[in-house]
Amino acid sequence: MDARLEAIRDTVLARNPGEGEFHQAVTEVFESLGPVHDRHPEFLEGAVLERLCEPERQIIFRVPWTDDAGSFQINRGFRVEFNSALGPYKGGLRFHPSVNLGIIKFLGFEQIFKNALTGMPIGGGKGGSDFDPRGRSDAEIMRFCQSFMTELYRHIGEYTDVPAGDIGVGGREIGYLFGQYKRITNRYESGVLTGKGISWGGSLVRPEATGFGTVIFAEEMLKTRGQSFDGQRVVVSGSGNVAINAIAKAQALGATVVACSDSSGYIVDEAGIDVALLRQIKEVERGRLKDYEARRPAVSYVAGGSVWDVDATVALPCATQNELDGDAAARLVRNGLLAVGEGANMPSTRDAVAVFQEAGILFGPGKAANAGGVTTSALEMQQNASRDSWSFAHTEERLTEIMVGIHDRCAATADEYGDPGNYVLGANIGGFVKVADAMLAQGLI
Ligand code: GLU
Repeated sequence: MDARLEAIRDTVLARNPGEGEFHQAVTEVFESLGPVHDRHPEFLEGAVLERLCEPERQIIFRVPWTDDAGSFQINRGFRVEFNSALGPYKGGLRFHPSVNLGIIKFLGFEQIFKNALTGMPIGGGKGGSDFDPRGRSDAEIMRFCQSFMTELYRHIGEYTDVPAGDIGVGGREIGYLFGQYKRITNRYESGVLTGKGISWGGSLVRPEATGFGTVIFAEEMLKTRGQSFDGQRVVVSGSGNVAINAIAKAQALGATVVACSDSSGYIVDEAGIDVALLRQIKEVERGRLKDYEARRPAVSYVAGGSVWDVDATVALPCATQNELDGDAAARLVRNGLLAVGEGANMPSTRDAVAVFQEAGILFGPGKAANAGGVTTSALEMQQNASRDSWSFAHTEERLTEIMVGIHDRCAATADEYGDPGNYVLGANIGGFVKVADAMLAQGLI
């Protein structure tokens, strides 16, 4: 890392002790930015990096609620409003027991660059709670969401901060959150949340968008080597919203997706995952992957273990951060891997990324490859602002155009900085320069 940047990075780490994921995300971005600072000394003079690493506002609050047994429960809520240089803060809410400030900050930091890459007018933010939705009834989820919004409402708004979903937050939760916001504020402010239901201001394609976008991005990478998804053998990690829609899109493009996982294990279905059955189990029944095995012959379910043991030509990590380490990456490379598209945020460890890059694997980092979700959120905001609603075909066409554009910009930036094919460099520099220019233009704030 460039020595000037390393000194700034060390200060960031020292000022934010114990936030491992945030340190990792900052370090990974700073490693790409040396050459930009040679060309743009004004970024150093303007303390752009120091400002970028200090969120504009961080909100931490208590979320009290009652469970079905009548017991009082207390969780912690977060919203980190990281950077508004390009637009209102924008980013999802994550409900998962692992959530802490460091995780929300890593996600919010990544979101700044991701959102800049989309070319849409959105800043970066993220929020969530350490609430564990697993095993909770609908009524408990509703009471939790209402309590969460009872504090969050005062910090958000169409022109201020626009949350959406992430792990543990989907259409159901956005519905309960929106209802409570409307009730408290007495305003039908559609643009305050994205990921809404289609009949009440949501956008078609939003549920599919992150998974679809990841596959579109990976397809563009494959094209640079004269390949496509057609005939590829694909392994996907996870079995949530992003994974399911990545599987559907990859198979629509002619690939066979042979494996996917949940936190208890993974399935191998050599004939190709049955997406309808997977949706039924995960989205309708809210069940576990183990149930898939019982309903489909010749499928093996492996309890525990790593889905990256299954050989593949394309790997799409769509579960969570740091789920693919250096050893798994080396195994995938030995087994004939061509490309990786990150559907999750920071799923590959720094060691894994190094293994992929050294082996010359096409590697699409999350902040570029999974930008389809937030892109479609921005399209939802656009529809809300004009009180319009677009067709599936039109929305998907816009999403595709934007994902291809992100790919091309990352590739062109990597070329411009003398490292062709390095999408990590392309995404980091491409996103950063846009935000840095806007920050300087808006003065010291
Ligand atoms: N949570 C998603 C992400 O990581 C989507 C955020 C949004 O739609 O605002 O980009």
